[in-house]
Amino acid sequence: MSCIYCNSEVIEVWNLGEFPPSDTFCNSEKASLEILSEKLAVGVCTSCGLTQNTVLLSEKIRYEDNDYAYNSANSSYAKSHWANFTEDLKKKKLLNNKVKVLEVGANDGFLLNLIKSHFPNSDLTGLDASPFQVSKANENFPNIKMIHNIFGISDDLLSNHFFDIVIGNNVLNHSNQLNKFLSRVKDVLAKDGFFIFEVPALDVMFLKNKWDMIYHEHASYFSINSILNIFPNAGFEVVSIELSDYHGGSFRVLAKQAESSLSGRLITTNYEHESLSKIKATAEKQRETLLKKNQINQK
Ligand SMILES: [Zn+2]
Repeated sequence: MSCIYCNSEVIEVWNLGEFPPSDTFCNSEKASLEILSEKLAVGVCTSCGLTQNTVLLSEKIRYEDNDYAYNSANSSYAKSHWANFTEDLKKKKLLNNKVKVLEVGANDGFLLNLIKSHFPNSDLTGLDASPFQVSKANENFPNIKMIHNIFGISDDLLSNHFFDIVIGNNVLNHSNQLNKFLSRVKDVLAKDGFFIFEVPALDVMFLKNKWDMIYHEHASYFSINSILNIFPNAGFEVVSIELSDYHGGSFRVLAKQAESSLSGRLITTNYEHESLSKIKATAEKQRETLLKKNQINQK
């Protein structure tokens, strides 16, 4: 397959087998058997170094055919993480009563509502690919503008260079067309605007063998290496990358519009391919041990 960002060749490293989408919950055994399973496999781009799924499920299957269950306020831990995120934005002086904010993947509107509670006159818009979550947001927070949209793909009717801040938490890594996603962020972001986003940290997955972050909804997996390769190429200057323990380890990245894009071939190191092979070998050993234990228990 070709890379979802730079179109170069992606070499498959690890085929995990057939899996249904992970963020879908069924209310009966019959319904669970009817859910489509697809090959889940990851590989690394030979040019930009982005680790990504080699089989992509359409947004329709992931967010429309099934009610997408992930909810940004699904635990007290998550709620305190988003409260901390808002405080961090305040500390970085990115928020005020005149700020225009777009949140891509606004989910049930929890974070935008938090921002609204601090800055009642801020101008807030949320987009989400899940009609179910958009209806939840409209129900819970009628004062926030929410639009059903697959960012960068379907028409969002937003004005260019309008937003001071674009937020995208745990959404960039869900995009099947990362190049179009980033290009649309550049379009809608003001010339002196900031793009702030969180993604699960691939480097932590490598360090701690957290391969459970590999699933169909996660189309790609960002490392510091791929962030520092892709964002300057896409026309952003990376201001900071901070590590938090959310999602078992996440990067919070602050980027701003760059004067110009760094064109030409992207330069990468090869560690992602090697690290992915190592984590695959560890997981396969764990699988063998579990299967042996199971056989012993059945005797
Ligand atoms: Zn690439």
